[in-house]
Amino acid sequence: MKTFRGQFWVEARTRMMRLPETSTSLFEIFVQGLYYKRLISDNRELEQDFRLKFGALASREGDHQYKRFLAKSPETWPWRVLVSLYVLGDYLDAQVVRIAAVDVMILRHEKSDVMTFDDIDFAYANTSPDSKLRELLVHITTYDFDIGSIARDLIGMPNGFLVDVSMTLARRLPNRQCQSCYQSALSWVQHADAVPAHFHEPQDGPPWQTLSSCYYHEHSTEEEKGDCAARVAREKVLERREQDRNRG
Ligand SMILES: [Zn+2]
Ligand SMILES: [Zn+2]
Repeated sequence: MKTFRGQFWVEARTRMMRLPETSTSLFEIFVQGLYYKRLISDNRELEQDFRLKFGALASREGDHQYKRFLAKSPETWPWRVLVSLYVLGDYLDAQVVRIAAVDVMILRHEKSDVMTFDDIDFAYANTSPDSKLRELLVHITTYDFDIGSIARDLIGMPNGFLVDVSMTLARRLPNRQCQSCYQSALSWVQHADAVPAHFHEPQDGPPWQTLSSCYYHEHSTEEEKGDCAARVAREKVLERREQDRNRG
């Protein structure tokens, strides 16, 4: 995988020059991300900068990618910004920035689902097939989009994306409420040796819910992975406490 990334980088180097999204503010966020391991910006003109660079790219979604924009909260930044940061982290082999970017994307997705197919197109054009970003976008599409209503949008999407989506759909398990359907689907998946990597009984859902956002992280050591799991668990406890407090 290391070698692959290396080759990818050589191939990608020439393409990076053509990335219109690599703006100064984006690069600043990237550099801060390397240092603080999260996406932050102290640029007072961040929204204007993003609008200048990404405004036109928001395409059919138009302006509403900027609704509720808060420079302090990266989960309110447009998808294209987050995807571009991930891509930059890929090109410059900065694992910490990729991790920070997917975490924010998951938050962004859970708060509002304004992701366009152009963003997916862009992500596929700028990542390698083993990319965790691709996997996240495929999971969002498969688990949280109404496939029937997006059928027309899928026309013209990259073949790699369409294959990834259909593979994930084919492996989805039906709701457990019907034991016989569930069991026969389960045995088919197991028999076909098509058990998805994120398969997690007894629930079938997007890995960021059934497991944790760490599923989309590339950690280089077991120790790092353990630290991350501890952090995620801590955050979950805090989140639950917060919810309980709000409730009562
Ligand atoms: Zn049934
Ligand atoms: Zn992790």
